[in-house]
Amino acid sequence: MEIFLADYLGFCYGVKRAIKIARANADGKCCTLGPIIHNPQMVEKLSAEGVGTADDLSEINEGTVIIRSHGVGPKTYEKIKAKGLRLVDATCPHVKRAQTAARDLVKEGYDVVIVGEKNHPEVKSIFEWAGNHTTIVETVEEAEKFAPCQKLGIVSQTTVASEQFKSVVLKLLDKSADIKILRTICTATEQRQKAAIELAAKVDVMLVLGGKNSANTTKLAKLCEKKCKTFHIETADEISEKWLNDAQKIGITAGASTPDWIIKEVENKLRECR
Ligand code: SF4
Repeated sequence: MEIFLADYLGFCYGVKRAIKIARANADGKCCTLGPIIHNPQMVEKLSAEGVGTADDLSEINEGTVIIRSHGVGPKTYEKIKAKGLRLVDATCPHVKRAQTAARDLVKEGYDVVIVGEKNHPEVKSIFEWAGNHTTIVETVEEAEKFAPCQKLGIVSQTTVASEQFKSVVLKLLDKSADIKILRTICTATEQRQKAAIELAAKVDVMLVLGGKNSANTTKLAKLCEKKCKTFHIETADEISEKWLNDAQKIGITAGASTPDWIIKEVENKLRECR
């Protein structure tokens, strides 16, 4: 049995950075606003190291608030300040760029479209930075219904697929005579998806590692399923030897929120099964 790792897998730059920042502030009195990443094992590990998680600012009355890589809107910064809490900002610089782009477009008089998922925390944060005259557009159908306007500015959720962005933008092109497009996509998600599809096409079984609550890991699993037998697992303990019967080549990939140690444990367990 041969084991292959996808060319790009696991933590992206923004997640690595956020975890490093959280660890540097771990003192038992700091909390991330929302789970720092969608990986229960990592959240638990950080909690043991002194970085807690609060779902809402109302739960934090002292110490440090860490803003996670998805970012938050300006009102949250104000509320943290008003509560007298220490603020540590781990917003990914790519997300900051999208927030700033949307805000500046509105200042310049553009109606803004954010291409992305309405309920994603990052998109909500970009929306809040933009303020007025902003619409979130998720699908081509929604883009078709968008009302024409004088000046149209377009930005994207950082993790939106290039193809989705292109097809939505194409539909928006005839909505205004003055259009400014800022393609605020980060390459991490696409790199992982492309590498996973390539590997899944070469192996008999794919193991996709990451939180069951992680949208990007679930998407990786769905893409791999189209190419070969695929299992989405969170830890090495979930591996069943039955899955590996008759498999000559096993591929491993992991979402952008999956820590290295989980990848290593899975690799080691597979080597033991050989
Ligand atoms: S996926 Fe990209 S934008 Fe999102 S946290 Fe990672 S590096 Fe930053």
